[in-house]
Amino acid sequence: MEASEAEFEHPRKAFGWAARDSSGLLSPFNFSRRETGEKDVAFKVLYCGICHTDLHMTKNDWGNSIYPFVPGHEVVGIVTEVGSKVKKYKVGDKVGVGYLVESCRSCQNCVENLENYCPKSILTQGAKYTDGTTTYGGYSDSMVVDEHFVIRIPEGLPLDAAAPLLCAGVTVYSPMKYYGLDKPGMHVGVVGLGGLGHVAVKFAKAHGLKVTVISTSPNKKEEAIKNLGADSFLVSRDLDQMEAAKETLDGIIDTVSAAHSIQSLIGLLKSHGKLVLIGGIEKPMELQAFSLIIGRKLVGGSLVGGLKETQEMIDFAAKHNVKPEIEVVPMDYVNVAMERLAKADVKYRFVIDVANTPKPNS
Ligand SMILES: [Zn+2]
Ligand SMILES: [Zn+2]
Repeated sequence: MEASEAEFEHPRKAFGWAARDSSGLLSPFNFSRRETGEKDVAFKVLYCGICHTDLHMTKNDWGNSIYPFVPGHEVVGIVTEVGSKVKKYKVGDKVGVGYLVESCRSCQNCVENLENYCPKSILTQGAKYTDGTTTYGGYSDSMVVDEHFVIRIPEGLPLDAAAPLLCAGVTVYSPMKYYGLDKPGMHVGVVGLGGLGHVAVKFAKAHGLKVTVISTSPNKKEEAIKNLGADSFLVSRDLDQMEAAKETLDGIIDTVSAAHSIQSLIGLLKSHGKLVLIGGIEKPMELQAFSLIIGRKLVGGSLVGGLKETQEMIDFAAKHNVKPEIEVVPMDYVNVAMERLAKADVKYRFVIDVANTPKPNS
């Protein structure tokens, strides 16, 4: 049976919560982690954010899930052991792990610190590691990760609120930097006000930008402006509002993963404006070439960020007090949390209090 194989595959005992099939239901799971290798950092997991990717992969929405599946790629904890060749970390350090635990280290992307675009990168959860074993994520009591893929959590950032930065944070920070949407005084739009969108608003404000939240639901207006610090709010279904806002934005970060029209968003861009998609919409979209040609506009994408940039992002967040809004929940609440996340019933990110959840079998 797979579960018992996982338990004795490696020497280090580990405990987490796993989905066993596409029902996505998570339950206690005994497995194992490798010994701390020369360049490995072992850490006790304290907190782990719940990302939309976790929800998709527990239910095998993308058809490539490996069961048992332990999700979690917004992992924060305290170092318990380091390998003999580890240079950056020592026991007791506060660290985190995001989307990736390995890459090829030699392709053009890897050489340029863009491990996130390495074709051989290995995901933290539900992937095959270099030794052929399955990677298990941070809904578990411990992690063992090569130091290259470990992030230092800066002082002054609460560990629970730091967790979502490791995926959601860098996913919105990276496109702002790459597409040059980080210059003070610029005006950007943020489409969707969920786990990604609310952090995008906070990073944009920290960069000194003017921010307009674009949403289908007018009832998010007060929240966006009063609590998250956005400057204005646009209801995307209100054609008068959309018309009045035409050609006012330098860029748009579109975080929505449900199918939606991007044509009206392009209309909001000034000449040379950029629309960046980070939401993973599966259905092909319609696009009028002339809406880009006239005004030299651009539609692009972006996927998380490299390790160097992830460190830069979290240091920036600590310095500028960018903190995700979180709801901390115990591990045994995780199935309810997943259901609520599917209905967007969370403000704005669940974070599992992993360390304070008792193990049932020990
Ligand atoms: Zn994620
Ligand atoms: Zn590579």
